Amino acid sequence: IEAQLHQAQKLDAVGQLAGGIAHDFNNLLTVIDGYAALLIAGADEATTRDLVMIREASARASGLTRQLLTFARAQTARPQVVDVAVVVAGVEGLLRRLIREDVDLVVTASATPVPVRADAGQLEQVLVNLAINARDAMPGGGTLTIHTDRVVLDAGRVEGLAAKPGDYVSITVTDTGCGMTAEVAARIFEPFFTTKDQGKGTGLGLATVYGIVTGAGGYIRVDSRPGAGTTFGIYLPATAAAAAAPVEAVEPKRLTVG
Ligand code: ADP
Repeated sequence: IEAQLHQAQKLDAVGQLAGGIAHDFNNLLTVIDGYAALLIAGADEATTRDLVMIREASARASGLTRQLLTFARAQTARPQVVDVAVVVAGVEGLLRRLIREDVDLVVTASATPVPVRADAGQLEQVLVNLAINARDAMPGGGTLTIHTDRVVLDAGRVEGLAAKPGDYVSITVTDTGCGMTAEVAARIFEPFFTTKDQGKGTGLGLATVYGIVTGAGGYIRVDSRPGAGTTFGIYLPATAAAAAAPVEAVEPKRLTVG
């Protein structure tokens, strides 16, 4: 619990910092990119090459600030009662486009409704981030499975989760990818922890996921073995089904991709 508290404080600090800087920084990047674009008009070939590199670098920096903004926003959720299976179904098309053709996406749901009180847009972000990581973990193809269910966590089943016993909705995201060592698994929720090549990973994907899930009163766990694949288990407190309203279609541009 102490470790979780520590993690939450670290997320808070990074989130505030990110929100404060990212917005202004993005405006400056727009200026840099704008002038580089202007200069290209009158530049010779060698200078154009350099200017294109400036534009490419600012585009990457801009992507990073966008991620930071999303990360900061993870703190301000607008929760409502949503059925997790409906959220998953709504984002399925986007996930299919995110993964490559050599990755199969299998979505399964229990027959019972799976209502939770959470921000549907944030749940979509969670699924997108997990799917991107799963894709990256399966360079040679594989299967990504998303399963939603209801589970009762009692004293026996909360072991290793530090969860409050009760009724939960689970989202299980499994890939058949490269998996990870225990050393890596222990650090994946830390902001800025990444094993990906420079420019490819920001290390904010899972920190965002962690912030969203715990912010909604839920828990997340990871099971992974090198070479065998990875399963993320998300547990959100179940609520009464009655008010579950359909979720609006996803707006892809709202989601941070990559
Ligand atoms: P990023 O994707 O930018 O590296 P994340 O926070 O999303 O940042 O992930 C952190 C690290 O966790 C990744 O660099 C990778 O080492 C590891 N990881 C995350 N998801 C998986 C997965 N499904 N399979 C194997 N490793 C993973």
